[in-house]
Formats: sequence, structure tokens, C-alpha cells
Amino acid sequence: MQITDASHFAGHADQIFTPRHEEEIAEIVTRANREGIPLTIMGALTGLAGGAVPQGGWAISMGNFKKLDITDGAARVGAGTLLRDVQNAALAAGQFYAPDPTENTSSIGGNIGANASGSRSFKFGATRRHVRALRVVHLDGRIVEYRRGTPVDFDVPTIPLPNVKKFSCGYQLKPGMDYVDLFIGSEGTLGVVTEAELGLLPAPGEITGGIVFFPDEQSALDAVDRWRPTEGLRLLEFLDSRSIKLMDQPYGAAVIVEWEGDVELDMTGALEADSWFGSSARDRERFRLFRHRLPEKIHDHLRKLGLVVIATDYAVPLEKNREMLDIYRDVLSENFEDRFVMFGHIGDAHVHTELLPKDQEEWDRSPAVIKDLARKVVELGGTVGAEHGLGKRKAHLLNLQYGPEHIAAMKQVKARFDPNNLLGRGTLFS
Ligand SMILES: Cc1cc2nc3c(=O)[nH]c(=O)nc-3n(C[C@H](O)[C@H](O)[C@H](O)COP(=O)(O)OP(=O)(O)OC[C@H]3O[C@@H](n4cnc5c(N)ncnc54)[C@H](O)[C@@H]3O)c2cc1C
Repeated sequence: MQITDASHFAGHADQIFTPRHEEEIAEIVTRANREGIPLTIMGALTGLAGGAVPQGGWAISMGNFKKLDITDGAARVGAGTLLRDVQNAALAAGQFYAPDPTENTSSIGGNIGANASGSRSFKFGATRRHVRALRVVHLDGRIVEYRRGTPVDFDVPTIPLPNVKKFSCGYQLKPGMDYVDLFIGSEGTLGVVTEAELGLLPAPGEITGGIVFFPDEQSALDAVDRWRPTEGLRLLEFLDSRSIKLMDQPYGAAVIVEWEGDVELDMTGALEADSWFGSSARDRERFRLFRHRLPEKIHDHLRKLGLVVIATDYAVPLEKNREMLDIYRDVLSENFEDRFVMFGHIGDAHVHTELLPKDQEEWDRSPAVIKDLARKVVELGGTVGAEHGLGKRKAHLLNLQYGPEHIAAMKQVKARFDPNNLLGRGTLFS
């Protein structure tokens, strides 16, 4: 059976299981382990890195794990529960689940697998910060609940991490780390997460959002640098000139903002009268959909051409943001003229680029260009995986980020949980 994720990366499974109970998962995984059958865990398949796309073997779809219990300050959530259901249930209870990887039809298990973040991570951090406990089914059939603070009971070295605000690139090993941190961002390579306890925040007071248009990119980038330190700002996103054109707007760039309480942003250089602002939930949803529509439009275009999405998910240190944007602009326009966009989480120096190749021949040239950009990101002290994970499609970038000894240490950890390399085979370690 053919399976694709949101990047259109395709694979197949010989059998797909849709278990309802942890014990069923334990049976499936122990059998696969005994018989040497590769196993892939699938959330909602909105991932962009191919981690949930099997390349043969068995697949476990987590869609039946839909538990959703809200208490004061916490949510107990099945791995298959959709992000939007958690967000809405929290709001209905006067609370707030902060992580917002804009694709709200993703599952909590997938968010944990990728350590997803998105726009509001500018203020609230990635999924990792909001997970208090996890239940995991191991390949040997054990079903364990890990709470924050339970350290791993084996030695791990310190893996040096880049100085970036967002990170989803391999196991973040350090001595004394806890199990919860080990599983978050492990992209379905260590065990099956069945349930999580998530922290909820009190619902904020008034929130104002806006899409601020600019005549050109430079004035938008100046505003970003001015606004980034603003207290109360919870989202700071960028759309370059090509993104704006694709969204049929007659401007040179846009910055999307959202803030809590009384915030005055200095609008120097902005087309303030043309910009959109609003405080109602409806307005904010309109702005979210506008922003979200951009990658959807690109993905639709590529789907029609039968092409896989080709995009970067790199982040650099804040002080390197503009330098990296210049590099993206120069390299991509040299190779693809104006057939690319730069957009996204500029508050965290994490701007995605996506290509709009005109045909297969141009697509075929793009992986080499993207890999070159990854080298430049690493040279600037950045990461080649900020929020989507590396999955199978970007696993070849792992050795740009880390030395062989660090990758060997990660593989040793993997072997403790999955000695036969069955779980998520090809993800992270190509
Ligand atoms: C238009 C668009 C916009 C997006 N914007 C953002 C964004 O702003 N920020 C962001 O972070 N992401 C974004 N994404 C990417 C995607 O939505 C996230 O990566 C999301 O976390 C994937 O969740 P999922 O349930 O679809 O996971 P899947 O794609 O099904 O799986 C993702 C990974 O997690 C593993 N996994 C899934 N469930 C489990 C489980 N129960 N136990 C263990 N491992 C598991 C899988 O094996 C796989 O490796 C976007 C995607 C699209 C299509």
C-alpha cells in the first residue's frame, strides 16, 4: 500500500496496523522484533521529512489513540490526538496549549517525534518545553511511563549543540538527561509514544495580531531587528517578496506579528495603512490561514507537477540571520531565478526556503544546492534541522552537523532500544 507524507515523499508498507491499546502495540512490536521486520510509526503524516513514510515492512498508525483529558494546568493526550483538538479543548477550559506548528491537523505523537515548534515558539519554545510525561511501548514489549526528571540509566556523552533557538536534529544527548528529553525529537526511532502529559498555560488576556506590509524586504528586516526584543511579542514571521507575490498581494514583503497586552511597535518603513490588524480570534485565525496558505499553495503546485517538496528547515544564530538570508537569496536566485520563496520563523532566525522548480530536470539539480546551503548554515554555527526533523529525506545531512564520534554515540543509544535497527529504519541514520 502506497503512503506519502505532506512532502509527497512516497513509500509503502506490507501491512498497516491500527491498534487501539498499548498491549496490541506491544504484541505487534515484539513480533516484528522477533521476526526482523522493519517498523514505521505514523502520526497524521503531515511531516515534511519522510520520517513517517515506511520503505517496506510494517507500519503502525496511531490514529486511534485519541484520549484527551484536560485538568487544571495539564492535558493528558493520546498520541493520535490532533493538535487542533488539544488547542481547542484547552481554550474551552480557559487555558492555552502553546506549541503551534502551523499545521494543526498534525498529531501530538508526531509533534513529539519531531519536537515541532512553529511560529509561537518565538515566545513559548518548542514542544519539548511543554511535555511533562510520556508513555512509551518498547520493542521488547515493555510499556513504561516516563516522567520529567527520570534520568536515563546509562552513560551518554555531551553532544555539542549549535547556538540556535530551534533544534530538531538527532538525539540531544547529555549526561544526566531524562528519558522524556531522549524520546522527544527521536522521530520514531526509539519507541512508540502512546500518550503524553502536556503542560497548559493560563489563557492570555487580549491578543492582537497583524500582517504588516512593507515596500521592500530590507525595511521589513529592519523592523524585525527592531521588534525582536519586544516584551509581549509572541510571534514574528517573515514573508519575502516572492511569497507576497504568490499570495497575490501588491507589496514587497510582510512581517506577521502577534502580541499580548499593550505593545507599541515602531512602524518606521511599514505600509501601516495597508496592513491588517485585529484582536478577535477570527482575525487571528484569518492571519494564521493566510500564512499557512503559502506552503500549501507551493505544495499544491508541486503535487500537480508530480514533484516532491524541496525545502530547507535550517536555523542560524540570531546575529547571523541577515547574512544567511543574503546567502539564500544569492544562491537560490543564481540557480532558480525567482522560482523560490523565503518565509517563516524569522524571530528565531529560522526562515524556510522552498523551491518551485519548473520541471523534473530543475528539481533534479536542487538537492545539491540545498546541501550546499546546509554546509553554509553549519559554517555559520546553525542547524540543518530546526523543527521538521531529518526523517529519511534529510538523514544525509546529519554528518554535516556532527562528527563521527557523536553520530556513533547516537547509534549506540539507538541500539539499546532497537538492536536490530528496525524502528524508523532510514530515519536520522541513512
Ligand atoms: C503546510 C505545513 C506547514 C507546516 N508547518 C510547520 C511548522 O510551522 N512547524 C513545525 O514544527 N512543523 C510544521 N510542519 C510539519 C509537520 O506538521 C510537523 O512535523 C508535525 O509535527 C508532524 O506531525 P504528524 O502527526 O503529521 O507526524 P508524522 O508526519 O506522521 O510523523 C513525524 C515523525 O514522528 C514520528 N512519530 C509519529 N507519531 C509517533 C509516535 N506516536 N511515537 C513515536 N514517533 C512518532 C514518525 O515516525 C515521524 O518520524 C508543517 C507541515 C505542513 C504540511
